[in-house]
Amino acid sequence: MKSLLFILAVSFSTLLSAESYDVVIVGGGPAGLTSGLYTSRLGLKTLVAEGEVPGGQLTTTHLVENFPGFVEGIDGNLLVSNMRNQATKYGAEIKSQTVVGVDFSHYPYEVKLSSGESAKAKSIIIATGSTPRMLGFSSESSLLGLGVSTCAVCDAPLYRGKEVVVVGGGDSAFEEALMLSHFARKVTLLHRSNQFRASPILKDRVKQTKNIEIKTFTTVKEILDVQKGFVDGVVVFNTQTEKEEKIPCDGVFIAIGQNPNTGWLPKEVSLDEKGMIQSAPRGVYAAGDVVDFQYRQAITAAGSGCKAALDVYQFIQHEEKK
Ligand code: NAP
Repeated sequence: MKSLLFILAVSFSTLLSAESYDVVIVGGGPAGLTSGLYTSRLGLKTLVAEGEVPGGQLTTTHLVENFPGFVEGIDGNLLVSNMRNQATKYGAEIKSQTVVGVDFSHYPYEVKLSSGESAKAKSIIIATGSTPRMLGFSSESSLLGLGVSTCAVCDAPLYRGKEVVVVGGGDSAFEEALMLSHFARKVTLLHRSNQFRASPILKDRVKQTKNIEIKTFTTVKEILDVQKGFVDGVVVFNTQTEKEEKIPCDGVFIAIGQNPNTGWLPKEVSLDEKGMIQSAPRGVYAAGDVVDFQYRQAITAAGSGCKAALDVYQFIQHEEKK
């Protein structure tokens, strides 16, 4: 009983001492950091909980060539670091912590951080991004960024005149294959069955593209060559013929879907069957990949972070007039 009272007293005092913010932004990728720049510049007291590994997927891209304003391209880590500095310049506070829960039972809401601290928030922006699904073996993770990619829009121009493999049978895989076909000498699309989720128009375009070959009933067993530190082929297995073969290539694009990072959210935030945010309590907004599976670019995430920040600004103005 004594210990229960102690825990209750500690929790109560933590809540009382919790710092108050106009907005807590969850996520430190381009969506979250752009939100943080806008809200802090608009004079809102802003906390960005960027997670323990800041920067999001952009940090896995060595050279970002399609973020406007950088004629020669920019290193993904540097771009994120610039966004961070720009947000802090206007007063955003950034903590390298994960948000482990939100209590919506009282207002302002209580945002719980991985350190055990809490923050009171008049509004919240959820910008926790998504994680590309991976095949899940060790050569794939060892060669990620060294020839294994999850973003053709980001990396296709690096494969001019080379041979690449794309894994997957949905819209993403077909779009990636088409984009890569403009740069690579040859694109081999590998899919584990002969049933494609990709839309008919994309299937037609791929069929009509001379330098794309489709191999069905094909799974990837291994990506070569971890010893060399770069990709020079894949070992694949045909589930019908039960034969293995090596396909030489310079790059492997994994396009088997994305999982939105929304598993941590409490039940008050409703998700669709894919885990994407559908609706949230008042004053709670979402930005970036948690609400967009179609475009998934740094610039579109940044744009949606800007929109969420302006929505928060309107919301707080409205609340203060009450
Ligand atoms: P998706 O539609 O879920 O397709 C994933 C593909 O990867 C499927 O072919 C699936 O095969 C395969 N796959 C999944 N796990 C695998 C594994 N472990 N090993 C091998 N293959 C695996 O994902 P998506 O293509 O990323 O598309 C996601 C959503 O975004 C969709 O709603 C899509 O329409 C949309 N999108 C739209 C556009 C556009 O409109 N321009 C562009 C991109 C994406 P199975 O079929 O065998 O499960």
